[in-house]
Amino acid sequence: MSLDKTQNETPHYIKVNENDNVATIVNSGGLKEGTTFSCGLQLKEYVPEGHKVALTDFDHDEAIIRYGEVIGYAAAPIKKGSWVKEAFVNLPTPPELDDLPIATRIPEEQPPLEGYTFDGYRNANGSAGIKNILGIATSVQCVVGVLDYAVAKIKKDLLPKYPNVHDVVALNHHYGCGVAINAPESEIPIRTLQSMSAHPNFGGEVMVVGLGCEKLLPERLIPGDDKQLNILSLQDQQGFTKMIDAIMGMADERLQKLNRRERVTCPVSDLVVGLQCGGSDAFSGVTANPAVGYASDLLVRAGATVLFSEVTEVRDAVHLLTPRAVNKEVGRALIDEMKWYDEYLQRGMADRSANPSPGNKKGGLVNVVEKSLGSIAKSGSSPISGVLSPGEKATKKGLIFAATPASDFVCGTLQLASGMHLQVFTTGRGTPYGLAMAPVIKVSTRNTLKTQWDDLIDVNAGRIATGEATIEEVGWEIFHFILDVASGHKQTWAEHWGIQNDLSLFNPAPIT
Ligand code: CA
Repeated sequence: MSLDKTQNETPHYIKVNENDNVATIVNSGGLKEGTTFSCGLQLKEYVPEGHKVALTDFDHDEAIIRYGEVIGYAAAPIKKGSWVKEAFVNLPTPPELDDLPIATRIPEEQPPLEGYTFDGYRNANGSAGIKNILGIATSVQCVVGVLDYAVAKIKKDLLPKYPNVHDVVALNHHYGCGVAINAPESEIPIRTLQSMSAHPNFGGEVMVVGLGCEKLLPERLIPGDDKQLNILSLQDQQGFTKMIDAIMGMADERLQKLNRRERVTCPVSDLVVGLQCGGSDAFSGVTANPAVGYASDLLVRAGATVLFSEVTEVRDAVHLLTPRAVNKEVGRALIDEMKWYDEYLQRGMADRSANPSPGNKKGGLVNVVEKSLGSIAKSGSSPISGVLSPGEKATKKGLIFAATPASDFVCGTLQLASGMHLQVFTTGRGTPYGLAMAPVIKVSTRNTLKTQWDDLIDVNAGRIATGEATIEEVGWEIFHFILDVASGHKQTWAEHWGIQNDLSLFNPAPIT
């Protein structure tokens, strides 16, 4: 990455790869017509912050290159020094899925990173949690109003008696009845709910509140024996106040047990960290995502499981990922997930051009190819050791592709189902997103966002664009912050303010 800079007021741009023929304007507020860079390049017009300037003259149909890869073709001739706007960039066709190189460039295993631990809660099944939360699963949306009333009362009347328990979380959702429960694709929402009720941050204390006549049987959400002891059906209760009393009683028993738990030293290999981006901009791929990628490599070297996701933001860069698969089987599984999603979008008469969002475009991303190339930087440089279908539980260590939509809430929910303890979330435009079940560490791509949202952004990777910090430095900062948050030594801003988005199931099956 070459950085044209001397001080903050000096006009500068970032060129990511030596073969790039466009570069991104770094200066806050953009740069005006006539601005001359130290390399001699002069702007022919105003170019906003985060948007691209042509480093050369383009003929019609000439390849536009960023990250060393083709992000599109010039829709018209573009003069050197001009703003390369979205309308000037034609979208290339996505990589063919049937002849991709698989496991041809498996990265060499990096030396193990030893001496790092976190303080977590050991669960009876051998897993560890980083939080001590009472989770209350639900088998159908019908119960949510009653349950929310009960949870508010539990938090007010019971939780203060149990100082070692962090929170009470109801796993509310819109599934459970009025759905094609036997449709093949219903396995996705069902396994998501099953995995979430057994989440490691719940300490193995399960309880399910159901209605009594729903299609999704509450038993299906509980692993092991003695299922009925952990199920409460509202249709079995004598009116509202008895329902609340019954839920409170069941919760109290479990809170007593959870309150006896203490943190113990756990190896980093017990951790499952999810990676996501939302509200991306043109800096995502040069600051926050590469720094998260560096942290991801450190986690993998320390033995952890790292999940990266968001199919539509990987699809156009999949040719760069399949060579990193540890074997043919993993490579083919990655391709199968891409194919499934291509067909899913086709059924809805949609295509990948529905991504990026208007905000992404305002932030300088011209299309999904450019967004994808920046997005996959989060995956660092480790081999891809496994692939999960949506909502499947992670069973392997290392870097795992967990197939999910790119939607922040749906991706977050599915990563929770895969066992994610905490999420690292990069953002350029800014989003206050948070999850009740797991801390979300927010990493900004730009200094201006950190300044604007100082009490929402946990780590500022914008310093990489201005040359104040390196990718490695911010990567280590994220790595240490992850371990501090996992140990309860530090809180994310989202935890501090109690920002919690709704769970959002991915249900590709019909609603009846
Ligand atoms: Ca996202």
